[in-house]
Amino acid sequence: MQLKGKVALITGAASGIGKRIAEVYAKEGAAVAIADLNLEGANATAKELVDAGGKAMGVKMDVTHEGEVDSGVADVVRKFGKVDILISNAGIQIVKPVQEFSLEEWKKMLAIHLDGAFLTTRACLKDMYSRNDGGAIIYMGSVHSHEASKLKAPYVTAKHGLLGLARVVAKEGGPKGIRANVICPGFVRTPLVEKQIPEQAKEFGISEEEVIKNIMLKETVDTEFTTVDDVANLALFLAAFETNALTGQSITVSHGWHMQ
Ligand code: NAD
Repeated sequence: MQLKGKVALITGAASGIGKRIAEVYAKEGAAVAIADLNLEGANATAKELVDAGGKAMGVKMDVTHEGEVDSGVADVVRKFGKVDILISNAGIQIVKPVQEFSLEEWKKMLAIHLDGAFLTTRACLKDMYSRNDGGAIIYMGSVHSHEASKLKAPYVTAKHGLLGLARVVAKEGGPKGIRANVICPGFVRTPLVEKQIPEQAKEFGISEEEVIKNIMLKETVDTEFTTVDDVANLALFLAAFETNALTGQSITVSHGWHMQ
């Protein structure tokens, strides 16, 4: 049990990558807070984990809402006593060319990916600093933290921005044993990706098979999708790492699509 006695708060954990991280963390002994816009989904995931013998709670949290983030983190501290690990993972995707984005869509994307990361980091850091017992903060970046793709201006901008936030948090938190890192997955077949396959096909005037083959998996070494397990295993490795030696980094898990 690599995370026995630890408390993890995972945003966007009602679905996809976040949900799988929650399952892996619970299995490794962590008490897990499933924070999501979708409370029903968060509670359902928490129930699955508790039924399987783990410790979990659902938390209603819109990561762009300052009050909801602060009160959600306070609820977790009240119930589980602390937060040792934050996974800032909640995210959405909107695909269209730059000139077709409304300002509202642009702001929504930056709010979920960047304001959400900032607000959850701030709330969890306060608890971590108050206990002086270290901590791990993991941001869900993307290969798009390093590479650009057409139709994804705000997503690519926000995912690049997370690298900067992680590096500052690593520097400020380092003296207190708080590490900050970014996971950068390639395409994983979650609802976020399933939705954009037909959307990209429409924008580019190509088939869905061509989107998968010629866009999503084109640069991989083996034309394979990354899986939720691949990402969750890396999230476990980063959370369980014992010293400050591994901090301020981004690690890519993408079947070689992006090589650093
Ligand atoms: P998903 O759609 O399966 O899950 C996203 C979750 O975030 C959902 O449960 C949703 O309710 C929640 N959410 C959305 N807006 C929210 C908000 N404002 N506050 C709280 N929760 C909110 O998507 P996923 O693929 O698991 O994505 C998770 C993260 O992984 C995202 O940050 C995404 O950018 C990143 N990512 C995904 C891929 C991929 O290929 N799927 C690749 C790289 C990075």
